[in-house]
Amino acid sequence: MDFLLNDEQRKLQQTIADFARREIAPVAESLDRDGTFPTALFRRVGDLGVMALPFAEEWGGLGLGTFDTALAIEEIARADQSLAVSVMVSIASGLTLQRFGTAAQKQQFLPDIVAGRKICAIAGTEPDAGSDTAGFKTRATRTNAGWAINGQKAYITNGGTEITSFALVLVITSDRDAERKTFSLFLVPAGTPGFTPGERYRKMGWHSSDTRPLYFADCRLGDEMVVGEVGHGRHLLHKGYQQARVFLAASSLGLAQACLDHSVAYAKERQAFGGPLGRLQMVQDMVARISVRVDAARLLTYKAAWLADQGRATLKDLATAKYYATEIGSECADLAVQVHGGWGFMDDCPVSRYYRDNRICTIGDGSSQIQKLIIARELGLDVRF
Ligand SMILES: Cc1cc2nc3c(=O)[nH]c(=O)nc-3n(C[C@H](O)[C@H](O)[C@H](O)COP(=O)(O)OP(=O)(O)OC[C@H]3O[C@@H](n4cnc5c(N)ncnc54)[C@H](O)[C@@H]3O)c2cc1C
Repeated sequence: MDFLLNDEQRKLQQTIADFARREIAPVAESLDRDGTFPTALFRRVGDLGVMALPFAEEWGGLGLGTFDTALAIEEIARADQSLAVSVMVSIASGLTLQRFGTAAQKQQFLPDIVAGRKICAIAGTEPDAGSDTAGFKTRATRTNAGWAINGQKAYITNGGTEITSFALVLVITSDRDAERKTFSLFLVPAGTPGFTPGERYRKMGWHSSDTRPLYFADCRLGDEMVVGEVGHGRHLLHKGYQQARVFLAASSLGLAQACLDHSVAYAKERQAFGGPLGRLQMVQDMVARISVRVDAARLLTYKAAWLADQGRATLKDLATAKYYATEIGSECADLAVQVHGGWGFMDDCPVSRYYRDNRICTIGDGSSQIQKLIIARELGLDVRF
């Protein structure tokens, strides 16, 4: 067993960390305030090669794995989780296309995603159903020339930026009177008539990440836009979400590490009762609790990512990492606000942003409750959902 990064991984981690410290961290607060998707910064991340990390060389990728990608996402999230989530959703959606798409779909759409020139989305959630993916209502019906999609998706990341290339959209394709509802995954290019991203939501956090409803009104697509087999879409979406779970764990890990960095620095600088705050044992307690959580989350996240690269990650490994890392992200942010006192409550203090940003991580991409159900089911309990 070797817990150390190899030379290439250390170099990769250092390169992204330097970039994040130099180019992302200084603007994170103003991006949070403006709440607009930072196209130029995202493209700089693309120029650095981050978007290319896990993709095949055929599409311009670097052919690396989940582990290396998770390392990069962790370092970006350490500076700005909003940006990290835009990156990770585009990578996870692109990987879903790489794995299940046709050669023509990949040829047309992947090179821009891999280079970071464009961004993409994966759309499952609807206004009336999120965790309950069987409850989705958006439907594609057969036409002479292909399909017509009608319905609505909710809370879709990267749904309507100026560089959004496409969304992978899960829709029902079985007949209304079919005994069993079946779903298919469609590649819907931005600008397709009948496909309209709605207004950006106002959110508690992730302000500069683009989140919108997507509307489909008689949106016509040919058979060539089906990803994978008709009727198998739910399985493909779940595969896409599963991979994203490691990346979301990594983004909470990066945020938790930032909570530790800021808390240690503040405990050393801030003077109280005749010396640095960090001399007080209850402050030491808070810093130590953050540190232990960060270490434990890192082990679980790296283990899940490493196993994924060996093709040996179980659903339990992925759910455990996602559940634990996202939960401790919020605990660490809460402790960090406490260490910073009143300053921690101010919008200008980074830890206050971390507190808001991480809140969605225990809800999105399979909530903590859903992850615990998966873990219990994998342990052999009779879990139904
Ligand atoms: C900022 C943001 C970005 C997002 N990006 C995307 C995206 O890119 N693509 C996408 O498809 N979706 C996205 N989502 C949606 C997100 O994945 C869903 O919000 C999430 O899956 C939860 O679904 P829901 O909101 O419908 O809540 P519900 O499923 O209605 O759940 C409500 C509560 O009930 C609990 N619950 C539900 N079912 C069970 C059960 N069986 N047992 C126990 N508890 C249960 C949940 O854990 C939760 O606490 C995003 C959401 C946000 C806020």
